[in-house]
Amino acid sequence: MPSCTPAARDREEALTDPGFGKHFTDHMATASWSSHRGWHDLKVGPLEGFRLHPAASVLHYAQEIFEGLKAYRHADGSIWLFRPEANAARFARSARRLALPVLDEDLFLDAVTELVRADKAWVPGHGQEHSLYIRPFMFASEPFLGVRAAMEAKFCVIASPSGAYFPEGPTGISLWVSRTLTRAAEGGTGAAKCGGNYATGLAAQAEARANGCDQVLYLDAAEHEWLEESGTMNLFIATSDGELITPALGTILEGVTRDSILKLAPEHGLTPVERRIGLAEVQERCAAGTITEIFATGTAAALTPIVSLRADGFEITVGTGNPGLHTLDLREHLLAIQYGDRPDRHGWLRRV
Ligand code: PMP
Repeated sequence: MPSCTPAARDREEALTDPGFGKHFTDHMATASWSSHRGWHDLKVGPLEGFRLHPAASVLHYAQEIFEGLKAYRHADGSIWLFRPEANAARFARSARRLALPVLDEDLFLDAVTELVRADKAWVPGHGQEHSLYIRPFMFASEPFLGVRAAMEAKFCVIASPSGAYFPEGPTGISLWVSRTLTRAAEGGTGAAKCGGNYATGLAAQAEARANGCDQVLYLDAAEHEWLEESGTMNLFIATSDGELITPALGTILEGVTRDSILKLAPEHGLTPVERRIGLAEVQERCAAGTITEIFATGTAAALTPIVSLRADGFEITVGTGNPGLHTLDLREHLLAIQYGDRPDRHGWLRRV
C-alpha cells in the first residue's frame, strides 16, 4: 500500500495543509543550455540540489527569470493547467529582456506537463481551492565574472502544493502606497519576471508592514502619481458607471490573471479599460463614491479584494470597506473555470 510508506505519509500530511511554497514534490524537470550546443538534456528526474560554481554569473549579476502557474484537479480527478501558453510566452519575453537564451515555448509546455504527470499524486484534491503551484525558472550558470550575457544557462521546473489563499474567504487587504520606493522605470525590467524585481521589492514590502498594511502599492518612478501594481498582483478599479479600469501595460508585469479578468469583465456587465490612472483620481472618486471596488489579481490568490489604501497623509476606504460584489463574482467565476465547475468557453484549460 503506497499510503503506508513514509514518503506517502509525508505527502498526505503536506496535502492536508499545504500552505504556500514550503512543501516540494518528488521530481524536477531540468535542461541545460550552452552557446555552442543550444538546449540539451531535457529530463524529469528526482528533486535534488544544484552544484554551482561560486563564480556562476547568476550569483553575481542576477541573470535569472521565473514563472508561476497552477495545475488544478477537477471533480472527476483529471488535472488541468490554466493558460500555460501565456506563461510560456511571457517566459520567452523575460528571457529576451534578461539576455538569457529563449526556450522554445513547446519545450516549456512539455517540461511543465511531464513534471505534473510525474508528480500527479501531489496535485491536491478537488473542492478546497487547493492546487499545485508550478515554478519554472532559468538562470545563468556559467562560471565567469565578466559582465556579459552568460554562455551557459540552466532551466528547471519545480512544483509545490498550494493551499487556499483565504481559508476563511476573501475578506480584503490594505495597501500601503509607497511614495519613495518604486518598482520599475521606463526602459527597465518592470515587464519582465526576473528575480531582481522581487529582491528590490522586499524593502517596500517591509515599509508596508511597518505601516500596518498587508501589501505595497507601487506608483510610477517618474511622477510618483500613476498607479502601477502591487507587490505580486495587478490592480483593478470598478466604477459606478460600469467601467473596470486597470493600469496600462508598459512598466508592469502583464499578468495572466489580469488578461483573463479583462476578458471575463463584459460577462459581468463591466467595460474593461486599460489606461493610466492617478492616485488623485482614486482619492477623489473613492471619496465621491464613484469608485466602488478595487481588487488585485495574480495566480496565487486569483482575486484579492482591496478594502483600504494608505500613505503618508491619507487613508482611503474603498466602497463599504468590505469586498465588493463584482470582485466576489469575478473571483468565483475565474475559480469555477479553473476547477472545471463552469464551462471553459475561452479554451483556457489544457489537460495534463
Ligand atoms: N505583478 C507581479 C509583479 C507579479 O509578480 C505577478 C505574479 N506573477 C502578477 C502581477 C500577476 O501575474 P499572474 O496573473 O500572471 O500571476
